[in-house]
Amino acid sequence: MTIILSGKDLAFQAEEDFKKRVSLIKNNSGIVPVLATILVGNDPASETYVKMKGNACERIGMKSIKIELPQETSTSDLLKTINNLNDNEEVSGILLQHPTPSQIDERLCFDAIKINKDVDGVTSLGFGKMTMLEKAYGSCTPYGIMRLLEHYKIPLSGKHAVVVGRSPILGKPMAMMLLNANATVTICHSKTEDLPSIISKADIVVGAVGIPKFIKSEWIKDESVVIDAGYHPEKCGDIDLEGVISRSSAYTPVPGGVGPMTINTLIMQTLESCENQLSLN
Ligand code: NAP
Repeated sequence: MTIILSGKDLAFQAEEDFKKRVSLIKNNSGIVPVLATILVGNDPASETYVKMKGNACERIGMKSIKIELPQETSTSDLLKTINNLNDNEEVSGILLQHPTPSQIDERLCFDAIKINKDVDGVTSLGFGKMTMLEKAYGSCTPYGIMRLLEHYKIPLSGKHAVVVGRSPILGKPMAMMLLNANATVTICHSKTEDLPSIISKADIVVGAVGIPKFIKSEWIKDESVVIDAGYHPEKCGDIDLEGVISRSSAYTPVPGGVGPMTINTLIMQTLESCENQLSLN
């Protein structure tokens, strides 16, 4: 039987728990957890993502502060904004929406976020700590995928996982998280030779390429776990899912798979940051 890894269902369930935890914080301390979002420029997709993140905060009773900066913002101006938020005690977490305009040194800006407010898991320090199995907030999309795999009790230990994509926010942390869960991991990218043959040996395939239906169903072996992190305007992901769903042991639908878990993980980590600040856990 094929398991549908429904991020939509898991995120819905998790939000019920988050609402209770936010109420507890409010009742005990009068404090409301706050996520500060920074959007630079006016990319429509980024605007939508930031709005969805703000809406998720509202649904569970948290507050979001929305900072919008013009397209021509400089790195130093963005750093000032980040530093102000780092120093603002009311702010539990900071999200800098990726991608930023090309004149911005995005890595420098990500790394300026204080580690205890890095609820999107984008800093180099957070990545290093996570890799070394130290406490750190996870990069939200891969960590959301790990939560989904754990919830549906998908075995990872000893399995061959193939991650297609090596971006700093998705492919690389995904590979490290799977490695830390004792999977044997192969990371593929644009220079990889004979991708179909590597994918054909995978027990778990993660598509994080950014090209609609790039990974063909015939490359994927029967009974694999198929994780599609992509989402494109034509409502498909990075994997040609249709041809593999019935042969897979588990798969993430698009939409309703990985996407809801990314936002859910962001608000979960913002809540955790607030709880940590108040030493409630
Ligand atoms: P990205 O930064 O553009 O990275 C894409 C990766 O794919 C790169 O590592 C690239 O390799 C690799 N790649 C490109 N062409 C390839 C090819 N022909 N063969 C093998 N690998 C290839 O993208 P991203 O930010 O990681 O996002 C990946 C996907 O996830 C996108 O569809 C995006 O929309 C989606 N996403 C979803 C969420 C969510 O919440 N659901 C969040 C973030 C991203 P090189 O390194 O060699 O260039």
